[in-house]
Amino acid sequence: MKIAPVKTPVVAKKMFPNYVWDIATTSKELYLTFDDGPTPEITNWTLDILKKYNAKATFFCIGTNIKKHPDLFKNIIRDGHAVGNHTQNHIKGWKTNSIDYVKEVEEAQRAINSKLNLFRPPYGQISPKQGKKLIELGYQIIMWDVLSFDWEKNISEEKCLENVISKSKAGSIIVFHDSVKASKNMMYALPKVLEFFSEKGFVFKSLT
Ligand SMILES: [Zn+2]
Repeated sequence: MKIAPVKTPVVAKKMFPNYVWDIATTSKELYLTFDDGPTPEITNWTLDILKKYNAKATFFCIGTNIKKHPDLFKNIIRDGHAVGNHTQNHIKGWKTNSIDYVKEVEEAQRAINSKLNLFRPPYGQISPKQGKKLIELGYQIIMWDVLSFDWEKNISEEKCLENVISKSKAGSIIVFHDSVKASKNMMYALPKVLEFFSEKGFVFKSLT
């Protein structure tokens, strides 16, 4: 992930065509995603700003965070956003055998209890075997088109905003985090992203 580009190259998308990298559309639609929550303070703040712009998004939640903050998790659902799976303990696919990896996903899915079987691998790390197994079990593996790098402390708030503004286009899946670590950059960039693209006639939709 340290070397991941802001914009996922077409060649990477073609190497893993069974994963979802963006949504094929010519309509002015964007797909915001928030990983690693739910998190006290930050998740509710995120929900409030999304509501202000009538924006829907997808929250890839960590199972243990759902357990710790069930009220925040309910707020996400209440507001009509989609909820996806980000494993029970935010584990690294490349360091975990496939059986344990699938168990982690299934445990989180029981907490999520959603008919949508959306899964995003933490750190973007998932082995071909793990990916294949999860797809067989009915999950969609959701990757991304644009990384905001909101979590990266060496990246300024302005740069985080520019990453999203300059690289997003119709159908882009965009990664933010509703985590403490990412909050400084995310809380700066997100309102401006919502404002910028809303003015251009874009709508923000959740994944299905
Ligand atoms: Zn994560």
